[in-house]
Amino acid sequence: MPLLPRRFERLKAVLNHRMADLTVLLEEVHKPHNLSAILRSCDAVGVLEAHAVCLEGRLPLFNTTAQGSQKWVPLQRHASAADGLQTLRQQGFRLYGTHLSATAVDYRSCDFTGPTAFVLGAEKWGLSPAAIALVDQAIMIPMSGMVQSLNVSVATATLLFEALRQRQAAGLLPSQGEGVGPERYGRLLFEWAYPEVAAWCRQQGRPYPPLDAEGAISEALPRTVRLRY
Ligand code: SAM
Repeated sequence: MPLLPRRFERLKAVLNHRMADLTVLLEEVHKPHNLSAILRSCDAVGVLEAHAVCLEGRLPLFNTTAQGSQKWVPLQRHASAADGLQTLRQQGFRLYGTHLSATAVDYRSCDFTGPTAFVLGAEKWGLSPAAIALVDQAIMIPMSGMVQSLNVSVATATLLFEALRQRQAAGLLPSQGEGVGPERYGRLLFEWAYPEVAAWCRQQGRPYPPLDAEGAISEALPRTVRLRY
């Protein structure tokens, strides 16, 4: 079925608000309901992509809590925390480790308007010593109850929405796709609109065909590919 113009407008509206400079790195967060809730918060805030370190041979699993958000927020996997943190550092991110320690500062005292990566730890163990040693700043959400920590997905949402709040207050929220960049924007829009055609193009090693103003593919494609719309 061809893409409806209304659907195309919705895809653009979401992509217009995505931010490539806000992300999370999850270190061995494996429970499907937590991973799912985290990606759903990422999608809601406008995170372009998330990162995860998974135990060897273990694939990230999602459940209905995600509401399909794993389709809209890709999860980049890394072999180790060191790999993931180094990759993000090279991309210019400031790394905020969530760790309840004496050196951790209240998250509300930090400036998350620049490139920001929140590093979150496993449900049971928290962040590994290796990850703690590599972050730029330890942060915590103050707790005053009987239980020492929050659920990891709740902590993630709290931090992401604080970053969103700060960026909004500073007038830094993207609204026209400037948080993604033109080349990546065009590529993602095509992949979101026509995932199967995009997969076929990649397989064939050919560029994605152009889209017209209403989101229709403005190039003749083989009939078998057209059936995949
Ligand atoms: N016993 C673990 C520890 O000492 O870190 C608790 C892990 S907690 C259930 C799972 C993750 O949620 C933590 O690694 C951290 O990323 C995040 N988290 C939970 N509560 C937090 C808080 N108050 N401040 C910042 N991060 C928190």
